[in-house]
Amino acid sequence: MNAIWKPTLSQQKKYRRNRRLLLLVVIFAVVGFVGYYYFPTSPPPELAKTGAQVQDKQTYPEKPTEPLNQDTASMDNLQHPVPEHILKRTIQPGDNLSTIFDSVKINQTTMFQIVAADESLLALDILRPGNILTFTLDKKNRQLMKMELFIHPAHQIVYQRVDENSFEYKDIILSGTWEPQLLDGEIEGSFYQSALAVGLSEQETGNITYLFKNKLKFSRDLRAGDHFQVVRSLQLLDGKLTGQSHIEAVRFFTRKHHYTAFLFEDGNYYDERGESLARAFQRYPFKGHFRISSPFNLARLHPITKRIAPHKGVDFGMPVGTPVYATGDGIVTRVKNHRYAGKYIEIKHEGRYMTRYMHLSRITVKRGQKIKRGERIALSGNTGRSTGPHLHYEIHIKGRTVNPITAKIPMAVSIPKSKFKLFQQRVSELVSLMEQPVFDLIGT
Ligand SMILES: [Zn+2]
Repeated sequence: MNAIWKPTLSQQKKYRRNRRLLLLVVIFAVVGFVGYYYFPTSPPPELAKTGAQVQDKQTYPEKPTEPLNQDTASMDNLQHPVPEHILKRTIQPGDNLSTIFDSVKINQTTMFQIVAADESLLALDILRPGNILTFTLDKKNRQLMKMELFIHPAHQIVYQRVDENSFEYKDIILSGTWEPQLLDGEIEGSFYQSALAVGLSEQETGNITYLFKNKLKFSRDLRAGDHFQVVRSLQLLDGKLTGQSHIEAVRFFTRKHHYTAFLFEDGNYYDERGESLARAFQRYPFKGHFRISSPFNLARLHPITKRIAPHKGVDFGMPVGTPVYATGDGIVTRVKNHRYAGKYIEIKHEGRYMTRYMHLSRITVKRGQKIKRGERIALSGNTGRSTGPHLHYEIHIKGRTVNPITAKIPMAVSIPKSKFKLFQQRVSELVSLMEQPVFDLIGT
């Protein structure tokens, strides 16, 4: 773990890069397999129930594996005409659900039935350019039977009509396979510029900067010529990249110190000694004690619709106006007012954690704002579809909702003793990937 950094000369870069490519092909096969075997990054299988997260590849045979824009879609239609009861819309900048429903001539009542079905998922609140909505109408009466949201090849959501007034959803998340990729570079200009130069995205660069925010002052501690390495995992589906990735490990080597971050199975990042990079979470988003009025339950009967609807968070009964606090450091990614979820906030935390706070009466933060654990973010309320004043609180780990009361969130600041061996094993896998002898293995 206390590896010695082998400095590289910039003139060797090109040569090194070529050899690295060749070598990566070899080590992907080995390390990728071993890494996946010991440390699967994909979540465990879950029940393939309506409203639950579906994991089975076979459940979604009809989807295209790549999004089409409208132009290519219409060209494609010449060869494979789409039946006229199926309508497809690619989200454009400025689109929202209303304008899209207008464009396919489906009424607002139907739209709100879909929005109601989406209450516990909230996927339709963040339609992004390039997402595709496909509407399947009844051939005779032109009633909407099914709406599919294509987010990326490994993630689609299907809203299916169940009766005259309601829809239910299937959230289809395909695991695919994850391949590690090593990126290494040296600081030339800012870290931001240097990271983009080795192929990291802006978002990944931002995530890395945020991850080390308590350890490293980028503008002060990094100098030209310092080295950094990043292992990221790229998702493949049927041999094609889906565009999804996450950071597995990062190392910075400055003149005086080195700084590390390794993603562990709990979704949190730790340095090589097993110390968490993120500060611990707090369990509850409020002070004092409030009773649980509705627990986390994936097979709950909805109190208003009386249909089976997963309850993906926990409800705490509390008077309107009770201060709500962020449970961990993070960045506010959504501030929304949903017809059914009410006023709500979403915060993305370090590691692969996210929290949501719903039915609020007042929100005191803005989207994009950096938040500290324990910072007041809102006042609780009774907005949206709600049976009484309460706070609905959710935790998502690696894209999945977990029970906030029992979830293994980083409450402590280091790897527990019982997990330390497993963590060390993972670190040595990642380190050996980063320490591959790129300089002298291939081409000698
Ligand atoms: Zn709730």
